[in-house]
Amino acid sequence: MKFNTKAIHGGQILDPAYGSVMTPIYQTSTYAQTSPGKHKGYEYSRTHNPTRTNFERSIASLENGNHGLAFASGLAAIDAIIKTLNPGDEIISTNDLYGGSYRLFTKIFEKYDLKFHFVNMEDPKYVEAKINSKTKLIWAETPTNPMMNVVDIRSMSQLAKHNKILLCVDNTFATPYIQRPLDLGADIVMHSATKYIAGHSDVVIGAIVVNDSILHEKLSFIQNASGATPGPMDCFLTLRGIKTLHLRMQRHSENAEKVAMYLKEHKKIQNVYWAGFKDHKNYKIAKSQMDAFGGMVSFIPVDKTFETAKKIAESLKLFTLAESLGGVESLCCHPASMTHASIPVEEREKSGLVESLLRLSVGIEDVDDLIDDLNHAIG
Ligand SMILES: *Cc1c(COP(=O)(O)O)cnc(C)c1O
Repeated sequence: MKFNTKAIHGGQILDPAYGSVMTPIYQTSTYAQTSPGKHKGYEYSRTHNPTRTNFERSIASLENGNHGLAFASGLAAIDAIIKTLNPGDEIISTNDLYGGSYRLFTKIFEKYDLKFHFVNMEDPKYVEAKINSKTKLIWAETPTNPMMNVVDIRSMSQLAKHNKILLCVDNTFATPYIQRPLDLGADIVMHSATKYIAGHSDVVIGAIVVNDSILHEKLSFIQNASGATPGPMDCFLTLRGIKTLHLRMQRHSENAEKVAMYLKEHKKIQNVYWAGFKDHKNYKIAKSQMDAFGGMVSFIPVDKTFETAKKIAESLKLFTLAESLGGVESLCCHPASMTHASIPVEEREKSGLVESLLRLSVGIEDVDDLIDDLNHAIG
């Protein structure tokens, strides 16, 4: 089955009760048993729920994986992955990562004696330098948020396999429409499905996809035992969003390309970050592992001041100033004060995330209107 068909049908079990064409919202916490311990595969909705099952099967199908697991948020999914590790284990993570992931790693898990190394992942040798006998997991995000750096998933996976380490890729920015990390050798794919997967800025939800059954069992145990599972309504909304994932991603990518080209030509803009530029330092890798370049574009005004960035952010009318990304509507974000405020300034600036940087989540409106809006705001 091709991707566009999978978005509609992939992994889906047709409602066995009445043949409902859309997955019903099984808004129930528990299920009737005919005799003690005898049931139809569902006992309690933290453990399993039929609406959630269809979402888990759908995301697994899109990522070409064997097993999908749904969580109450992207961070709950990350939390479950880290909980498969033990005190003393070490994790190598990209230094240019989602602020909430950084906060979870450093403020919660370091307390439990897990050690995180944050490195520039554009060159595998920086990762290799941190590998020792305690290293258990490599955590990659690509393209990175908000600097749009590209990590070579294939070479990360070779490095991981060679050292018997697991590789997890946060695939939130790209989505499986663009990039399928399991096919490139990753062991775990993680999503903030809040973003492009659900796609309408109306739900917070997370997901994990793996191929290995033992890893799936471990994660599934944590999913149930820790209990950060999404409700059936949220799974339903996400499933509904997935049905147009391919159409949305195509338009997001087309619009973002036009916006990136426009910004690059603009005299008042200094740097534009977008993985699809032919002169992007990792363009070749991006081209080899991505089928399109997605809807995210970051930029810095030419005078590099916070005041100018602030003025642009405040003057935009169609782009709403808000955290998050991946919805049908365009958003503008000031990472230093919003999504990435939890990362210390020194750490942020090391990866180029300066105070004057703005990040756009380019929506699927008419791109001429979006460019008019930017033109007016940049002045
Ligand atoms: C938003 C986001 C997360 C966290 O997901 P939530 O659903 O907000 O918990 C993790 N990684 C990336 C890249 C994100 O953009």
